[in-house]
Amino acid sequence: MDQSVFLPQGDFGQIFERLREAGYRVVGPAEQEGALTYDVLESADDIPVGLVDRQAPGHYRLEQQNHRRRFDWVGTAQGLKPWLFVAEQPLWVAREVEGGLRFEEVRETPVPTAVIGVRACDLAALALQDRHFLDGDYPDPHYRARRESLLLVAVNCHRSADTCFCVSTGDGPEVTFGADLVLDELDQGYLVKAGSERGAELLARLPGRPVRGWHKRRAKALRKQARTQQRALPSRDLRGPLYAARDDMRHWQPVAERCLTCGNCAAVCPTCFCHRVDEESPLDGSLSRAVRRWDTCFNDEHSYLVGHVVRKSAEHKYRQWLTHKLAIWHDQYDRSGCTGCGRCITWCPVGIDIVEEAERLCREVGES
Ligand code: SF4
Ligand code: SF4
Repeated sequence: MDQSVFLPQGDFGQIFERLREAGYRVVGPAEQEGALTYDVLESADDIPVGLVDRQAPGHYRLEQQNHRRRFDWVGTAQGLKPWLFVAEQPLWVAREVEGGLRFEEVRETPVPTAVIGVRACDLAALALQDRHFLDGDYPDPHYRARRESLLLVAVNCHRSADTCFCVSTGDGPEVTFGADLVLDELDQGYLVKAGSERGAELLARLPGRPVRGWHKRRAKALRKQARTQQRALPSRDLRGPLYAARDDMRHWQPVAERCLTCGNCAAVCPTCFCHRVDEESPLDGSLSRAVRRWDTCFNDEHSYLVGHVVRKSAEHKYRQWLTHKLAIWHDQYDRSGCTGCGRCITWCPVGIDIVEEAERLCREVGES
């Protein structure tokens, strides 16, 4: 499907209007406490203009630039994960009734949601979360309901942050699948391309103009510019070095000396799916509520087994996170669990860098 139009800068709000007419609430980039994150927007004017993000290990700053582009930033603090695999999901309630208990499943009807500004690495992460939550004998009904009511307006990255390495994972920076509409943002406006039937229907209702040759050439040059990245994983499949390093804790001590086991890396990672289920009851004991909450392999409770915490130390916890992410995922899902978004590097309070750690381990075990 190669349907595309050019939408002048001043007509950007039309995308918003068409999405609202089609019954979607619109979610897009918003500034919160000095960082960009996805939030519900009332109008296209809510999207900040001229913002650029500067990212480095343990560092994120927004800079106001003297231009009117809306998507010159690279990454939001969170990807799509919180909109599908929500951080807190009520599952069921057990109520005390005469003669016993009554169990009630919690089912919500999600609001149809269109997300504007999604990047290639986050679409790749979404595909991984789809495999985890939807494939197999027991698809997750909460995730599925939200996923089915989701429409995605993606944007091709035209620059990379210092923390990006999606070229080496094969997941970006150009959007190649998974979006309903794909935008390239130029100073004068947007190249808008349909990626699905729903996207084509929206596109047909936009006041777009024909795409000119120079639009395409400029967009192609900007996409190429984004492929220049400072970081690269040593290989897409690191099972060899990571399994070789597994039982020698000397490989894990250097990172464990710095790791605070805070779990930020897993919380911001768009593919991490670990969770726990809490049981909650009011003081009168009349009911019990089961609530699923995000969890990470950095919590003691996450590896608690019959009175024993299996992974107590930072060495064991970080080893679990990295080995699962870059090695075991291949056995589970036929690819690594990393799409190169760089969030775990940016949001680690002590600046631990997954690429540096992978490189170090490869060096130490003599493999790459
Ligand atoms: S491991 Fe880090 S770089 Fe890879 S997808 Fe997760 S947050 Fe992004
Ligand atoms: S690697 Fe960084 S973000 Fe992850 S648990 Fe350790 S200190 Fe926290």
